Amino acid sequence: MSKLPHITTSIFTVMSQMANEHQAINLSQGFPNFPVDERLTTITAKLATENVHQYTPMAGHPGLMSKIAALTSASYHRAVNPATEMLVTAGATEAIFATIQALVNKNEEVIILDPSYDCYEAPILLSYAKPVRVALNDDYTPDWEAIAAKMNTQTRMLIINNPHNPTGKIWTAADFLQLEKLLTLYPDVLLLSDEVYEYITYEQPHISVNTNEKLRDRSIVISSFGKSLHITGWKIGYAIAPEHLMKEIKKVHQFLVFSVNSISQAAISDYLDIVDFKEIASMYRKKRDYFKALLSQTPFEILPCEGSYFQVASYASFSNENDIDFTKRLITDYGVATIPISTFYADGKDLKLIRFCFAKDDNTLLQATERLRKITR
Ligand code: PMP
Ligand code: GLN
Repeated sequence: MSKLPHITTSIFTVMSQMANEHQAINLSQGFPNFPVDERLTTITAKLATENVHQYTPMAGHPGLMSKIAALTSASYHRAVNPATEMLVTAGATEAIFATIQALVNKNEEVIILDPSYDCYEAPILLSYAKPVRVALNDDYTPDWEAIAAKMNTQTRMLIINNPHNPTGKIWTAADFLQLEKLLTLYPDVLLLSDEVYEYITYEQPHISVNTNEKLRDRSIVISSFGKSLHITGWKIGYAIAPEHLMKEIKKVHQFLVFSVNSISQAAISDYLDIVDFKEIASMYRKKRDYFKALLSQTPFEILPCEGSYFQVASYASFSNENDIDFTKRLITDYGVATIPISTFYADGKDLKLIRFCFAKDDNTLLQATERLRKITR
């Protein structure tokens, strides 16, 4: 019998495959199509001739871990002990999986806020625990009443994702105050904060749980170099958590992968000396504005994008189709692949919204929008 009967192939895989089959421009799965920084490839090529090819220590490459500690201190003024409070993982996906497997017990409940990214539910089910999906408000702010209504003595964890995939929404200080108030009532509830887009924010600053003294002692904060440094295929992420939680997470990590790709960790370690995360945000801000300007010449209605490299748009004004059929037709008839937002909801709520990934070179964005301009109302 299947342990995960309702889990199917991820929509990101499905849409990327379909894009390839139809030779469509792929604005679906979230990955950059522009070259990585040449300084990083130079570092990697040089390292390939050095002694970096064997296992790193289980929790991560020591040099990289001290650079992550320095980055966390510089970005969030949080002093992290790499030996006890940090784990380098095979992407954020593994960090999330190991965290949930280690900390969530049978029959406990984990709250997920919809629309939500797809990697939270399976590890909860594999822990024989219960995912509890709560919809965000229509403007994608947390619905505190609905969340509070789902909290009970079985609740073990709340998962938040900020900046948010797919909507790009960023949590405000007021949102965090509400969260603190709610969690005060539930001292045993853990917070998993998925912050993989932490360095991709625009007008509003990112508020990391790393900066929150009230929350961080019960939180696991998850980051991804795949997102921050345009190297999604390297699959290097990390988790930061207090020692008593990290000790348990490491037990799972140890038998999931033991340790993470060594040369990638060594290369990122060297690269962190020279990379400027502010430049990454400003590069994406230009792309967001460029794409938005192009998309405004199409019939789509553009929703706000405060962070991440995703742009959500509505087609409600010109089609009644459900969003899955609509995105398939965009591929077959117009040659542009996107992601239907209904797949981020437990109940498949169809609001006639789709997600574009704008982490692409300008020419790709131009070609895609030229195709989309052919859509008639
Ligand atoms: N969380 C969110 C919100 C994501 O969008 C992604 C995907 N890229 C991940 C986690 C997984 O990140 P990684 O590729 O580092 O495993
Ligand atoms: N996070 C990426 C996205 O949202 C997908 C990564 C994946 O395909 N697993 O598009």
